[in-house]
Formats: sequence, structure tokens, C-alpha cells
Amino acid sequence: MKTFPMFLQMAGRHVVIVGGGEQAAQKARLMLKTEARLVLLAPELDPELAALVAERRAEQVKTLSIEVFKDAALVFVATGCVGLDYAVHALAKDAGALVNVVDRPALCDAVTPSIVDRDPVVVAISTEGTAPVLARQIRAKMETLLEPGLGGLAELAGRLRPEVARCIPQRERRFFWDWVFSGPPRAAMARGATREAAALVKATLANGSARTAQGSIALVGAGPGAADLLTLRALRLLQDADIIYYDRLVDPAVLELARRDAERVFVGKEVGACSWPQDRINAVIVAAAKQGQKVVRLKSGDPGVFGRLTEELDAAHSAGIPIEIVPGVTAASAASASLGRALTERGATDRLMLATATCKPGDPDPDWCAMLQPGTTLAIYMGVKKASCLTQSLQKAGVPMGLEVEIVSNASTAREMQARCRLGHLPDVLTRENITNPAIIFIRWPKQAVARAQTAA
Ligand code: SAH
Repeated sequence: MKTFPMFLQMAGRHVVIVGGGEQAAQKARLMLKTEARLVLLAPELDPELAALVAERRAEQVKTLSIEVFKDAALVFVATGCVGLDYAVHALAKDAGALVNVVDRPALCDAVTPSIVDRDPVVVAISTEGTAPVLARQIRAKMETLLEPGLGGLAELAGRLRPEVARCIPQRERRFFWDWVFSGPPRAAMARGATREAAALVKATLANGSARTAQGSIALVGAGPGAADLLTLRALRLLQDADIIYYDRLVDPAVLELARRDAERVFVGKEVGACSWPQDRINAVIVAAAKQGQKVVRLKSGDPGVFGRLTEELDAAHSAGIPIEIVPGVTAASAASASLGRALTERGATDRLMLATATCKPGDPDPDWCAMLQPGTTLAIYMGVKKASCLTQSLQKAGVPMGLEVEIVSNASTAREMQARCRLGHLPDVLTRENITNPAIIFIRWPKQAVARAQTAA
């Protein structure tokens, strides 16, 4: 290591920034995050820096002297003039200061790393100048791994340390903190539920141990297939789960992102294999959570769209198990993105209807005509096998057979297929193009195209 990472004590000290332009302002922005007093050494300041002085968040010193550098925690030099940079550097060194001269590595005692700030949790990344792009990539990864609420949780932990020392026996403490930072308190904080997180930690403290702490269930949207359409929250939960129950349509690429040693249980239906009835799924996820496990129930798309979410929610609620829902990109959104068009078009389709063609056994067929009125985009889920029946009932109701239909199967995956036709040809096109589930069928009835579509039919 040519440079060694250390965290500098800033409280009660001052930082000098020499220069009054944009480069000085960049350093000022960084230093304002710290508790150090800011001294701006320059005869003239740009408006941003001048405003800091006016707001008393920084002090301006106009004349250069060695005094200002004495006992400074750090000195940044950014005068914009080579000669002056060298002179100031020499003076600051004479005063014994730690100096960073912007863009002049040879004159730097210390360099600023790439920072991920979840104060008081701070990650500093350096490649010692060899690969700034790599540093940025690492930083982007860390940003996704460390959710914005993490700093708040660390702060809470800091405040509660004396209480933890009092209530939790030494041998249990590590387990307790593990539970705080990877269990329900962290999940609560990640979704912004600060009070819930604090209440959970305090209740466990009162209990004297986290061992009895209950598990949790997260109903997580896996998105339409492409792993990078997963939300950051879903990714975090997957990396934290003890056990994952997943459906048939969940793409293997998404499961790949789960913690390596998390147990994976397939609970979907597969042709020729036994299927999992919903009651059994409800029972196993609740049982796993009762054993204290962090359960992720991974469902394709958005779990709240044709995902039988309510049954699982109800089961968790009646067992008193904490449960959260993590939305995902639903198939209709992914399919329309693949088509390169919007789900709604201003003035043409002001209404978006999501419908399933496969309802509860015994229920009557969906009332397609009531759904499909001029001004509508109708996105049909689970509709491939019902296409003939759907087209017939729309025809009987007088819906123009010339309406535009688009079909996207396996949207966002390598197996994606698309087709486009008139409504009247839908069943034939599905057969001819060999389009199978999972697919979304879009039928669009723009307001202004009513007359045109009727003619085309
Ligand atoms: N909760 C899911 C829908 C589950 S129902 C969501 O929000 O997307 C299953 C149906 O969703 C499939 O029969 C199909 O109609 C649709 N579907 C799921 N993934 C799809 C994909 N990648 N491409 C097209 N349709 C998909």
C-alpha cells in the first residue's frame, strides 16, 4: 500500500481550503459533511463559497500567513495557479499540516477517497489513482448494498450500546447485534420504518435475548425475468434471506443473486410434477418464520398483481408474523418497454386495464366488453389459452376486429418473442407464431381510432 486508510478526527478542529473557485467549492462541500470548522483562504470567493461565509458555515481569511495552517486537521490547496499552489504547499508544510494539493499528486500527503456516506457508517474506496473508473464501480455497488436508512440504524445502535451491555449477557451480544443488523430491525429501517425498528430492538432488549426473536416474511417481486430489473430492496432481502420460496416464473438469474447458503424451495407448478396448493405454501412460509428464519417469498413480476398475495398476507397476519411487501416490475410494464412504447398514450389511451384471463375455477369468464372501451389499453395476463374465447366474446359485443393487438412472451428475457396483428387474427397468430405463456396480450382501443378501426374490420 502506497497510501494507508485512516479516519481523521474532525470534531473541534479546523480545515483550511486555499482558493475561491469551483475546485475549492468541491472540497468545501465534502468538508461540510464533517464537524470541522471551515476556513476559506482567498481574497475572493465564488458565490457558493461566499454564501457559506454569509451563513456562518465557513470563515473567510483574505491574507496568506503561516498562522492559519497551525493545528489544522487538513489543508486543501486549490488556487488554480501552479506557482501559488507550490508556495502555499511549502508554507502549510512548514506549519506541520497534512496537505492535499488538488490535481498535484506529488504534493499530496493524503488523497480523498471515493466515499459512500451513511453517516456514521462511512466507506472509503481508493485504487491509489490507478483505476478511478473501478473505484466508481465499487462505489456504485456499495451504494446499492448499503441502504439509506443504515446510518440511522447504526446511530440507534450507538445510543443503545450502554443498555445492551446492561441487558444482554456478554456471550449473547454478538448474536444480538447480528440480529439487529441483518434481521427485522434492519429490514424495518430499510423501508423507512424508524419507530418500528427502534421498538423491535427495545422489545428484544427487554427480553434479554434475540434468540427467541421471531423470523419474518417478505413477499418480494422478482420482476419479469431480467435480473437487473429487480429492485435494490429485493436484492438486499435476497442477500439476507435464510430461505427462499419461489415460483415457476421466477428467472434463475434472479435466484442467482440470493445468498449462497440460503435454502431455495420451488413451490410452483410444473407440468407432470406435483403442484403446491396455496394452503400448503401459506403453511410452510409461516412455519419457517416461526422457527426464526428470514423468509423471502419470491413471486414473478409484482407480487400484488395476480400473485395470490392476499392469502399469504392473511396467513402471516393471523400467525402474528411481521411481513412486508416489496413491489416489482410487473409483466405489462416490461412487455410495453420491450415494444418500445408506453402503456398509456395521452389523448388516445387514458385508461390502463390489467386483467387476467384465468380466474378462480367456477367463476364466470371475465367481462371483456366492459373492460375494453374506447380510450383503453387492455393488458391481459394468462391469456394465451383463452385467446379464441376472448376474441369471440369481443366480436359478439361489437368491438371492432381491426383493433391493434401486440403480444410479448417472456418479456425482458433471452427467450422474448413479440407479435403484432389485428384483433380478429389473434388466435391464428398465436398458433402460427407458436407463442406460449408467459405472455402479455395488449389490446389498444385509442379514442380517435374508433372510426378507422371499424373501417379496417
Ligand atoms: N405477478 C406477475 C403476474 C403473475 S401471473 C406480474 O406482476 O407480472 C402470470 C402471468 O404473468 C403469465 O401467465 C403472463 O401472462 C404474465 N407474465 C409473467 N412474466 C412474464 C414475462 N416475462 N413476459 C410476459 N408475460 C409475463
